[in-house]
Amino acid sequence: MSEKLEFDVAIVGLGSMGSFAFWQLARMGVNVVGFDRYRPGHDKGAGHGETRIFRTAYGEGVEYVPLLKEARTLWRELEAETGVELYIENGGTMFGPKDDIFIKTVEESVHTFNLPYKKYSGLEAKEVYPQINFKENQVAIYEEYAGFIKPELSIETAVNRGEELGGTVFTDSPVNNIHANEGGVTIICEDKQFRVKKVIVSSGGWTSQLLPELKLPLTLERQVLVWYNAKNPEKFTPEKFPIFSRMKDGIGFYGFPTVDGKTVKVALHHGGQVVNHPDEVDRDIYETDLEPVTEKVKEYFPDLIPVPVKAKTCFYTNTPDEHFILGAAPGLPNVTLLGPMAGHGFKFAPIMGKIAAELATNKTPTLEISIFDPSRFNK
Ligand SMILES: Cc1cc2nc3c(=O)[nH]c(=O)nc-3n(C[C@H](O)[C@H](O)[C@H](O)COP(=O)(O)OP(=O)(O)OC[C@H]3O[C@@H](n4cnc5c(N)ncnc54)[C@H](O)[C@@H]3O)c2cc1C
Repeated sequence: MSEKLEFDVAIVGLGSMGSFAFWQLARMGVNVVGFDRYRPGHDKGAGHGETRIFRTAYGEGVEYVPLLKEARTLWRELEAETGVELYIENGGTMFGPKDDIFIKTVEESVHTFNLPYKKYSGLEAKEVYPQINFKENQVAIYEEYAGFIKPELSIETAVNRGEELGGTVFTDSPVNNIHANEGGVTIICEDKQFRVKKVIVSSGGWTSQLLPELKLPLTLERQVLVWYNAKNPEKFTPEKFPIFSRMKDGIGFYGFPTVDGKTVKVALHHGGQVVNHPDEVDRDIYETDLEPVTEKVKEYFPDLIPVPVKAKTCFYTNTPDEHFILGAAPGLPNVTLLGPMAGHGFKFAPIMGKIAAELATNKTPTLEISIFDPSRFNK
C-alpha cells in the first residue's frame, strides 16, 4: 500500500525567504506547511530592524538584475493582494570613487538593463542632496528603482497571506531533524512528525546546525544597526532623502530616510565579529560597535546629531563567494535549499521564494539561478 503524505511541501524556517516561498506555494494551490522556531516577524534571525534596502542597479553583480526586476514586480503583487504597504520606492544613491568596482558594476547594471538613473559628480550630488557630504573625487549614481522594505511586516504579511490561501503554519515549532529519501521527507519536531513529498529548508543562520551533513562553508557575522536623531528631520523624509550605499572593497556603510519622523538609521556592511551559532550572537551593544558608525556620520552627515539614540544587533550568514544558496541539496533527495543569503538577500525574498516554490514542485525556474547552485562548494 502506498504511503499517505500529509503535505505536498514543507518549509522549515518562515523567516525572510521561507515566508515568501510559503506565500508562493499557497498561491499555486499547493498543500503547504511551514514551521518556524519562533513567531514570524521575530528579531532573532536576519529579518528585523525596521528597514531593508531595495535596489536594482546591483553593485554585487549584473547577473542579479533580472531577479531584482522580477522581485520588484512581486513586492507590488503581495501589496496588491493584501492592501499592506511594504516597499517604498523613494530612490537610491550609490556613491564612491568612479573607478570603484561596486560603482562600476552599478553603472554596468543601469546600462545593460536600461534602468532609469542619473549620474552626478561629487559636487553636483552635494547640490542635489546637501544632507550627504559627498567628496569631490566621488561619483554618485541615483537609481529610481530603489527604496526600502519593511522587513518584519513583510514576513508577517507573506505568512498571513499564505495562511489565508490555505497554507498551514506551526510557529514556535523548531524542526529538530529532516530525514530525506527518494520516497519523501520526514520532518521531526519536538512533539510531532510529518511526512511530506518535498521540503524547502530556509533556516538561514541555523542551516549548518539543521543539515550538518552538507558541510556548507557558512560564516555567521554579527552586525549592528544604529539610529541617530536628525537636526532637521524634514530633510530626511523619504520624499527628500534616498536610501544610500557607499561600498568599497566589499565593506562600506548604508542608510535610510527617517521612518519615524525623527531618526535616521545608518549601519556598516561587514567588518563584524564572526560567531559559530545564532545563539552566540552577542545582543548587547558596546561603545566599539557604535564608534565606527558615528565616525561615518560625522564625516558624511552634517545634519545628523552624532550621538547614537538606538542600536540593534543582527547577523549575516556569509558564503565564501558572497552569492546566495538556492537549489537542490547535494545528496539529499527532495530537499531544496533556499538560502542562506550571504548578507544581501532581503530585497530578493519574493523571487527567491517563487523560484524555490517552482523547484519544490518540479517546475523550471522562472530565471537563471546557476550561480546559486549549492553543490558549487563541493567542486
Ligand atoms: C543588519 C542587517 C542588514 C541587512 N540589510 C539588508 C538590506 O538592506 N537589503 C537586503 O536585501 N538584505 C539585507 N540584509 C540581508 C537579509 O536581511 C538576509 O539575507 C535575509 O534576511 C536572510 O533571510 P533568511 O530567510 O535566510 O534568514 P532569516 O530571516 O533569519 O530566517 C530564517 C528562519 O528560520 C527559522 N529557523 C531556523 N532554524 C529552524 C528550525 N530548525 N526549525 C524551524 N525554524 C527554523 C528562524 O527562526 C528564522 O525565522 C541584512 C541583514 C542584516 C543582518
